[in-house]
This record gives sequence, C-alpha cells and structure tokens, in this order.
Amino acid sequence: MDQLAIQYADVILPLPLTGYFTYSIPEELKDKVIPGCRVIVQFGVKKFYSALVHKIHSCKPEGYQIKDIEYLLDFSPVVPPESFEFWDWMANYYQSSIGEVLKAALPSGLKLESETRVIYNSGYTESLDNRLSPREQLLLEHICEKKNLSILELNNSLLKKSSICILKDLLQKGAVRIEENMKESYKPKTISLIQLSPKISTERSLLIALDSLKKIPKQLEILTKVIDESEIFENGPKREIQKKEFLQSNGYSLAVLNTLIKKDFLTITEKQVDRMTEYSGLQKSVSELSEAQEKAFLLIKKFFKSKPVTLLHGVTSSGKTEIYIKLIKEHLDQGKQVLYLLPEIGLTTQIIARLSLVFGNKVGIYHSKLNDQERVEIWNKILNYNTQENSSYQLIIGARSALFLPFRKLGLIIADEEHDTSFKQYDPAPRYHARDAAIVLGHLNKIPVLLGTATPSLESYFNAKSDKYGYVSLDERYSKIEMPLIMTANLKEAYHRKQMKSQLTPLLFDEMNKALQNKEQIILFQNRRGFSPFIQCKSCGWIPKCHNCDVSLTFHKHNNSLICHYCGYSINNPDHCSDCGSKEISTKGFGTEKVEEDITMLFPEARVERVDLDTTRSKTAFERITGAFDSGSIDILIGTQMITKGLDFKNVSLVGILNADNLLNHPDFRAFERSYQLLAQVAGRAGRKYKQGKVIIQTFDPENTIIQEVIGNDYEAMYNEQLSERKQFKYPPFFRIIAIILKHRDPSELNKISEELSNELRIRFGRRVLGPESPVINRIKSLYIKNIWLKIEREASVVSAKRQMQEIIGEVKSRNKSIIISVDVDPM
Ligand code: ADP
Ligand code: ZN
Ligand code: ZN
Repeated sequence: MDQLAIQYADVILPLPLTGYFTYSIPEELKDKVIPGCRVIVQFGVKKFYSALVHKIHSCKPEGYQIKDIEYLLDFSPVVPPESFEFWDWMANYYQSSIGEVLKAALPSGLKLESETRVIYNSGYTESLDNRLSPREQLLLEHICEKKNLSILELNNSLLKKSSICILKDLLQKGAVRIEENMKESYKPKTISLIQLSPKISTERSLLIALDSLKKIPKQLEILTKVIDESEIFENGPKREIQKKEFLQSNGYSLAVLNTLIKKDFLTITEKQVDRMTEYSGLQKSVSELSEAQEKAFLLIKKFFKSKPVTLLHGVTSSGKTEIYIKLIKEHLDQGKQVLYLLPEIGLTTQIIARLSLVFGNKVGIYHSKLNDQERVEIWNKILNYNTQENSSYQLIIGARSALFLPFRKLGLIIADEEHDTSFKQYDPAPRYHARDAAIVLGHLNKIPVLLGTATPSLESYFNAKSDKYGYVSLDERYSKIEMPLIMTANLKEAYHRKQMKSQLTPLLFDEMNKALQNKEQIILFQNRRGFSPFIQCKSCGWIPKCHNCDVSLTFHKHNNSLICHYCGYSINNPDHCSDCGSKEISTKGFGTEKVEEDITMLFPEARVERVDLDTTRSKTAFERITGAFDSGSIDILIGTQMITKGLDFKNVSLVGILNADNLLNHPDFRAFERSYQLLAQVAGRAGRKYKQGKVIIQTFDPENTIIQEVIGNDYEAMYNEQLSERKQFKYPPFFRIIAIILKHRDPSELNKISEELSNELRIRFGRRVLGPESPVINRIKSLYIKNIWLKIEREASVVSAKRQMQEIIGEVKSRNKSIIISVDVDPM
C-alpha cells in the first residue's frame, strides 16, 4: 500500500442521522486511530462531538469537503469492534440510526458532546522541549482564567476557528485535559458496623455492663442483641452487624444505640465496600438441587449443545433461580462471563442478594439508574476483563442496557422473567426488546441463551412448541409445596347486597382477619396508584383533565393535588367545580393510596405499608419496604405490579386482587395474555414456603375465561385460545407488526398527514396497512397522536418491507416538516 495515501475513518456520531461519517486522519494520528476508539470531530458549523471510529480505509469520499479528525481520545478501543455487528443489527432491525444505538450503548461518561468541558491541568509545567507557542500560551491563559470551558465555548473564544487545533496541542502537551465526568474524585462507599467495645471484651466486664443496664430495658435489649448476633465467646466475632439493617429490622431507635456508644459499650467502625456489590455477608455455596431441578438442569445443558435458545418454563417457586445459579457457576469456573438480564432491576433486590451471596464480588450490577461514574467503572472493568485474574464483574446482572457492555468472553445469557414487557424500550430509539436482542447477541457470540419464566410469552412458547427453542418445564414447586388455592369473589353480588367493606368483599375481609389472627402476612394488589383515578362534580358531572394530555387527573391525597400520570402536570385539588361552582365534588374509583387509608381503618392493629411509584421514589425505598415485609415487621403490603416481580416471601398466606376487571378490559391484542401473566405472577406470591397459600380474585365477572384459566393454572388452555385468535386476526407470532407513530400539535394537520401517509403505504402494502387510528389516549404532552400499523407476513422479506416503508415515510416527512414520525418494530 502507498505509504503516503491518506487514511480515512468512518465514524459514528451520537446523533439520529443515518449512516457513518467520513473524516480524514491527520498525519500525526496515522495508525493511532483504530476502530473502537473515540475521536473528537467537528460536525456542522460549530458543533463538536466525540465520535466512535467504526472503520479505517483509504477511499476518498466524493462530493463534499472532508474535515480532519480533531483529536484522538483513546489509544485502545473503548468498544470492541466485535460489538459493531450487534449494533448494526439493532439499527437495522429496529429502524433506528447507528448513532442512536451508540447513544443507548455508551454510558454518558464516555460520550463527549459540544458541552464537554476542557480544564486546565494544575500539575502542568512547561519544559524546554515542550514549549508553548504564543497562541497556545494565549489559549491556555484563557482557559485558566475561565477555570473550565466547554468545547463549544472554546471554539467561540478569542482565537475563533483555530482554537480546536491549538487545543489539540495543549492536550498533547498535557497542559489541559478533557473532563470526562470521571474527574470527580472517586469516593469509596462505606457501611457502618456495630461492634462490642474493647472495654467490655472480658466476660467479667461484660457482666458488669449488663448489670448496669438492668433498669434501662431498651439499652439492655440492644446490647444483648449485639452480643447474641456477634457470638463473641466462641471463636471471636463471627458476624458483621450492619448498623442500618440492625436498627431497621429490629425496630430499635438510633438514640438508644447512640447512648450505648457514648457509654463506650459499643463502637462503630466504617468498612469500605465496593459500590457495585454492596452485599457483604457470608458466602453461600450452590444449593443441592432437587431431583426435578437436577433433571431440568441436565436437560437445559443438553439443549445448550443443540439449540440456540432454551425456554425454562417453571411454575412460581419451582426453584428456577437455583438452576440459574448452578449454570452460572459452571460458566464462571471456566473463566467465562455471564449476563443475567432482568426487566426492571430496581425491583429485584432479592435476586441480586441471592446471587451475590453465592458469587460475592464476581457480581456486577448494571442499569441506567446507576450514576455515570459507576457505569463507566463497570464498563472499563469489563473491557479489561482478563481470564487469568478470574475475578470481579464476571457475572453481570443488568437491565436492558447491559446488552451493550464490552464483553470479551461471554459464555451464557439468561433472560429471567422473559415474558415481561418492560424488556421493551419505548423511548428514545432504538426501540428494542432486550430478550430478542439477547437472542441475537447470543447467536453472534455462538453462545446459549436461556429464557426463564413461570408464564411464557406467547411468542417464546410458540417457538418452543415449533421446536425452534429447547423446552424444559418444571411443574412442581420446590419441596413439593402446593400451588396456591385460587378463588373468585363476586363484586357484583357484594355491591348489590351492600356487603362491601370499602374495597373488600366479605370473603376477602374474612380471610384477611383469619390470616392476621394466625400471624400470617397478606398482599393486596391494585394496579392503580394515587387515591382515585379521577374526581367528579356531583351536580354537573365535570371531571378535571390534564392540560397537555387526553386523560383525567389522578387525585393524590397526601399532597392534596391532581396529577397527570403521563406528563406530570399537577394542580391543587379544587374545592369547587370550575364549571358550575358547586362545592360537592366526589372521588371516583380507587388507587393504592385510598386502599392504604381504608385498610388502616378496617384493621387498626395491623402494620400496613404500600409499594408503588409514589412510595419508592428514593433509591432505597423499595428495598427497605420489601426487606421489612420479608423480616415480618409488616402485616399487610399493598402494591401495584411492582410487587409481582420475582419476590419470594416466606410467610404470605393470602393474596387479594382487588379488581381483576381493570386488567382485562384493555383494548389491546395482548391484554388477555398479559392479564393471565400478571394474575398468575401475583398469585404466585402466596404460600411460598411453609403452607398452601390462598388467592382471592375480586371481579364483576367470575366466569371470565382468563380468570378461570388462572384458577386452573392452565397456561396451555390460555395459550391455545390466544394463539388461534392471533392467527385469525393476523397478529404475532404469525405476523410481524411495525407501528408508525405520528405526532403533531395541530390535530387537523395530523389528520391530513396521517391520511396521506396511510394512503401512500396502501398503494405499496395494500391491506397490510391498518389505520390511521387514534390511540386510547390521543394527546400526550400537547401532541396529538395517530398510529398506523403494518402487518407483515412472517415469511415475507421484512428487510425490503422496512426499506420501502422508510422511503414512503421520508417522502411524506419532506413535504411536512413539522410532523414527528417514529417507527416501533414489534410494539408491545
Ligand atoms: P422461582 O425462581 O422458580 O420462583 P426460587 O428459585 O425463588 O423459585 O425458589 C423458591 C424457594 O425455594 C426459594 O426460597 C429458594 O431458596 C428455595 N429453593 C429452591 N430450590 C432449592 C434448593 N435446591 N435447595 C434449597 N432451597 C431451594
Ligand atoms: Zn359542576
Ligand atoms: Zn398530562
């Protein structure tokens, strides 16, 4: 090859633009710019971005002026080039740009945009062979004076356009550096541990101490508990007592503990913990599997050799997690990495704790709610993963964004709760389904993928039945605990006879009393948060609605306000009707907040807590409440679907579903499948350990087929019935759906454009085009919405269909600049 030939780099820009962008590589960066590294490039007149190098070549693109790469950020790839195949698949399949995939993939700490800041490096000294030119000196003084500047501000600064070139030299000479969000000094995280003070380390001094507390029972109780838990007189302290957990789970007061510390009976030490694996406790070995589990385990391993995907269909509490643990162990022992995907990681603290107990610091947790520092930290650890070391972050438990981590030796992917629709990304693009993407990632890496659930999605079960996937079922609970007994309670009858106590039928009310008498725990499920879904004027029927969306406002009592659950718009609860002025306004329907208020009144002795979006806004609240329930300090837990996911409580004997009809009456082809899954999962929380649990489903329609199938634990019947409907009405898994969503501020413009688009699509796709239709909620955040659906036969070439669809969309868009059109492939 010609040594002098100019090299070019195709880069990915973090923007929703199609395709790659080509820049020339300046002489001094030749051979240093390699795929997977980040570079700073100029795009447009004054914007700078960090772009990712995709490919190096020497074909000069024609037709436009090529700019030089401004600066190279990495000397080795931050994204292994092997990942690009997966990224390309995602962009193509879900019809997003590769830049959008980049944005979804990288933690923001690795993304630089025009806002990225440049800072003076205070440790810098000018040396003889590293002299600054006068222009460099000038720019450095400018940066110094301003403390830090964004790349954009810098470009607008005194030296105008040449600033970026000079910056490049300053960076190279080490006079300034790029602030990568990583600069905040890393603060190790600590936990407080309680220990007995050395002052009472002998038996004699201890007895004296206990004696002195005889008349102060609260202090005595805490001290005795600490002694018990630390088992000091055997082989020295055995167990660590974590202060926070100790106080919470025993309900002790901090003030009393502090008095004991003041008296020097107890001391507090701070222990540093790794922020990813906060669990610090005893390590547990892999459980011995039951016969049924062992059989399933062996069968799964057999399928791993012959099938790309295996579906583990095990009823709730059948011990799927223990099987995963054993499979994970085998892969880690071989030096492989394992990815364990969960739909919503915030809600799965129990699973994380169980896996951490076995795998200790090999566990890393990754999801979009971690702060950026933490995400970059994990990213880099995985990037530098080294089989020899065989240590941290070998097992990643993550939500969907974990699919993009730079794995080097991935050996297995598990997608737990595979049926869960929160695996699907809604906004922004790429609108990908993490389970489906995991299957592709597994295929590209030539490694097995395991899907696990008690209630498979129709699609996965269909694939298993048609022999595309391996299929393993576990139809008994671990240690042969019985499946819960499920009954219905007829709401119509109870209302008619005026027997309802707030939201409770007599059956549920009586069963709750029995459970409480037996000191057993209860879960009540209501899939609506807030106090009441809407309020209404008693004299004229006025219902307050959201200013921006086509929905009624939900009444929240705790702050006496009306809130929109779609856009967050909120107003004070009005004390009179704004139409007729009447002061008589009533609340309609009920959400979890009202249930909590009423249950507290009906069962004044019981300890009641609520889990929904409103009570779990802080990072630790969900963990705290479910932890307290698990340890027995709550009797009745009221919650939305947040409590249905992967929780395993030991003492729940009764589950009440307050209104099943809410779920069933959704105008959506997946509504029945989803209701079945949700009801079966909620029911599965009952009677998990020591005895058969009871589940009471309150409904106006006890004969409803789905409810009857849940009662009979008859997944198969639900499947057959739903599948024949899907076939008849041309839905997945027989047809692929692509949704085209149009949004516009002006409803008549929207109507016009959506008609135009659907007509053009019909010319090409004929009867495969449905709509335009207004969704149930036809205005959100001040934008009116219309949907058009394309139904494509499974056998047809979806690639060419997508291409033609995009061409038509492109034309319509170019004629109507103000329309927002997005595409959702396989909408949920
Ligand atoms: P699933 O994930 O199928 O709902 P889990 O794995 O949570 O089921 O198991 C339910 C309960 O049974 C858990 O408390 C778990 O610890 C226990 N369990 C399951 N298998 C075993 C085993 N082989 N040895 C000991 N305990 C087990
Ligand atoms: Zn009124
Ligand atoms: Zn709104």
